[in-house]
Amino acid sequence: MNQAAIDALIAELEADVRVAERQLGKSTLDPRVMAALRKVPRAEFVPPARRAEAHVNAPLPIGFGQTISQPFIVAVMTDALELAPGDRVLEIGTGCGYQTAILAELAAEVSSVEILAELATAAQARLRDMGYANVRLRTGDGREGWPEEAPFDAVIVTAGAREIPEPLLAQLKPGGRMVIPVGNTMVGQSLTRVTKGEDGKVEKRALLPVAFVPLVRGRNSRGR
Ligand code: SAH
Repeated sequence: MNQAAIDALIAELEADVRVAERQLGKSTLDPRVMAALRKVPRAEFVPPARRAEAHVNAPLPIGFGQTISQPFIVAVMTDALELAPGDRVLEIGTGCGYQTAILAELAAEVSSVEILAELATAAQARLRDMGYANVRLRTGDGREGWPEEAPFDAVIVTAGAREIPEPLLAQLKPGGRMVIPVGNTMVGQSLTRVTKGEDGKVEKRALLPVAFVPLVRGRNSRGR
């Protein structure tokens, strides 16, 4: 592992958070989140030809028209979930599994749904080989959530949705947190933090403009 490159990336993320202080409502992220970003080797999640760029603060293509998210966005989204060590988390859009691994470092259990079987299979093998035993993966349309594993303390959606899928809100515990990019097009998305009060009341706050690949409708989805 290239320690100097990782140190430089972490310093850049810290600087980017300060720049976004007004939008984020904070000037530093949870030190546990930063420690997880330092620990999880991003190079293991990018295609071999892209290894040299693994510690650049940018999204990278991973094949099948999909990407590994930008480290800054992974940091902000993870921080916004305010994970406690005992939490159960639902992730929609496993992709290469990088965000999954970061979540697995900070929570008790991660259940992740990916619509492309090839990516899900590769992520499963990768995370298993890396020793993540608290991760469960499934191939399917994440817009339905994972009812058998619900409810969750936190839900993270790593693809852009036109609106928040109702099943995901329903599967969030009272007191739970969700982060999801919401918008009509890839350029017009707003990273949204959703909280569900103990009384079930849902509140939303826009954090940052983002550009995620779209949350697509599954072939066998129930038409939501
Ligand atoms: N979390 C990844 C980034 C994922 S990119 C990371 O850590 O880098 C978005 C992923 O969402 C893609 O793999 C895409 O196939 C997946 N996706 C798109 N629509 C989906 C859906 N309806 N259900 C589940 N996964 C979906």
